[in-house]
Amino acid sequence: MAHFAAGDRLSDKNLRSLEDLTQRVLTYFPNADLNAIEKAYLFSERMHEGQIRRSGEPYISHPLNVAGILADLHLDIDSIITALLHDTIEDTHATAEDIRREFGDTVAALVDGVTKISKMQFKTSNERQGENIRKMIVAMGKDVRVILVKLADRLHNMRTLDHMQYEKQARIALETLEIYCPLASRMGISALKIELEDLAFRFYRPEMFYELTQLVQKTEKEHTQYIDEVKRLIVKELHSGFRDIEIQGRSKHLWSIYRKMQARSIDYNQVYDVLAFRVIVETLPQCYEVLGHIHALWKPIPGRFKDFIAMPKTNNYRSLHTTVIGPGGDRIEIQIRTKEMHLIAERGVAAHWRYKERGRINDETAQKFEWLKDLVSWNQQVRNSDEFLDTVKTDLFESEIYVFTPKGDVREFPEGSTPLDFAYSIHSDVGNHCVGARINGRMVPLKHQMQNGDTIEIVTSNTQQPSKDWLKICVTNRAKSRIRVFVKEEQRKRSLLLGKELMDREFRKYGASATKYLKGEAMERFKKDFGIHDDDEVLVRVGYGKLEPRNVIERLAPDLVAAQTKQPTSEEKRDPNFIQKVFKSAAQKMKKSGSLISVGGMDDVLVYFAKCCTPIPGDPIVGFITRGRGVTVHRSDCRKAFEFDQLRRVDVEWNNPNADQQQERSVRIQVISQDIPGLLKMMSEAFALEGMNIANANIRTTRDKKAISTFEVGVKNLSQLNQVILHLQKIKGVIGVTRQTSS
Ligand code: MN
Repeated sequence: MAHFAAGDRLSDKNLRSLEDLTQRVLTYFPNADLNAIEKAYLFSERMHEGQIRRSGEPYISHPLNVAGILADLHLDIDSIITALLHDTIEDTHATAEDIRREFGDTVAALVDGVTKISKMQFKTSNERQGENIRKMIVAMGKDVRVILVKLADRLHNMRTLDHMQYEKQARIALETLEIYCPLASRMGISALKIELEDLAFRFYRPEMFYELTQLVQKTEKEHTQYIDEVKRLIVKELHSGFRDIEIQGRSKHLWSIYRKMQARSIDYNQVYDVLAFRVIVETLPQCYEVLGHIHALWKPIPGRFKDFIAMPKTNNYRSLHTTVIGPGGDRIEIQIRTKEMHLIAERGVAAHWRYKERGRINDETAQKFEWLKDLVSWNQQVRNSDEFLDTVKTDLFESEIYVFTPKGDVREFPEGSTPLDFAYSIHSDVGNHCVGARINGRMVPLKHQMQNGDTIEIVTSNTQQPSKDWLKICVTNRAKSRIRVFVKEEQRKRSLLLGKELMDREFRKYGASATKYLKGEAMERFKKDFGIHDDDEVLVRVGYGKLEPRNVIERLAPDLVAAQTKQPTSEEKRDPNFIQKVFKSAAQKMKKSGSLISVGGMDDVLVYFAKCCTPIPGDPIVGFITRGRGVTVHRSDCRKAFEFDQLRRVDVEWNNPNADQQQERSVRIQVISQDIPGLLKMMSEAFALEGMNIANANIRTTRDKKAISTFEVGVKNLSQLNQVILHLQKIKGVIGVTRQTSS
């Protein structure tokens, strides 16, 4: 029986010197560049000089032993160097630039990633676990070694947690259980996971830990005998048919036993699968052969066989699992795998970063790719890396991006988010004054899309204020609603001014002052009738065009109106439903047109379409607040629009430019063509093809044998209009097609 170097537990030997470390590296990497390791060690030692750990040891003992853990995992030299330097940026005056200059880009990026994670604040609740892990994965950027160093860092801190205060121990232990253990598990590094779990268990639930330790010790002798018996029987069954085979049997680690007891509410004695057996073979077919022998030897328990070779886990764990009725009628679980599968099972991602004798893994693209490949599935067939990155992104990050504040906090945003989203996530004031951002130190405009791992610093200016265009460049609902609130408030202020002005003018017609009438009993009654609570609101509604100044005057100052102009008809006077009628007609008009258009980001403004240019959805448009008639919408190129008072101009836009308008708009189209028989038929077919009705057609011919045909058709939206113009232009004999602007 041969034994393999890849054990499933890490060495707990405390390294005391650089030599201890280099000795360990040389065991798996005989030609390692020891100078590079020495340089990093000396740099770190110098930087941390004078710093003492709680244990009383000089600080360098920590990075040294973190490096030692990575050497135990047989990692490459860059990982070892990163481990030695991992606390220098955070805890000493060394800068990222120093690291880059002394140790190159790769190490600098690795140290930067580890530092980012160190600054993170984790949310320790179960539901946040996945999120925390994803954030860490982002922090590591493209290099999984960042996480490996961080896990080794945490492992060494856990090994030396004895020196911490009790409260701190419990907190760190819990964080380890909730974040680092699942991470190690996700990475498939079982050796690390197991040690972290038992250390965390010890500090998180010390009473339970020591009680269970004693129970396990009591059964130790019994267990050893049992393990030997099982091994003997398996060897006997396999005869000499297998060479190079290893059989392992051991008690499961404490945390997993404890969890079983918890989950099933049982005592230690009732946990039947405390012992775990493993058969490690040379080749894949041997796995199934051994399985057959074991099932011949002991009766398998139905439903307990799992084939993770045919169906590997996402972290590429492969193995056969079976539970059988073993000696003495006890249930035993047996795992069967090859040496290679075993290595991956114990070392996971770390196995892929092992120093390889045929040379260091240096291919940049291979590196970028490897960790992603590992995380999702090592077996996935990949056509090209871009495609793969896309898949992984959606899989792993669910279209979320994670970016950092300058202090290193992580924030989560939907993909496509911009600095505006970020700014509003801090505070609406920051958002309202945001002029741009510094991303990774570089200035970017508002509309720039943030990328995973970016560090964002918002730049503000007191003179900045939001506009409704901002709604188009942010993604989060939070930012959008804050911008809408601001824009609405601005619009309200404007409407208030305009309403006041409109009322002033209207009163001036009667030689009266608005101020006098906008207070008093009549006004109170008016507000009550219309369900308005404050005076300003009356003016705002006038400004928006929801109330007509004339109606307001008629109600507030009937004497003025009666004296100067025609009296309201006796019908109106007597009609008790007058107010409701005013309201109703306004509401109906709004229903017809209002929902199509939004004015300054608002949907509920009374809107009319100008007859001169008949805007259709999709046309560039502009709005004008008219006297007492709400907002009239013109096409931006309508000549008439320029004749209006520009003060009354408001921004308007189509709510849905491609909407099939319920009510078609009448558009005039002029076609100039050769005067050929049959052409009219083809033209009307073009309209029919687009489902348009011709309401009116007028054809005249010129002396030079041209025909000028004018059609009045019902159009739903701009794209439909453009389509039909295209059809018309294609007709042979057609010279030109134009949309007529005004009648
Ligand atoms: Mn550290």
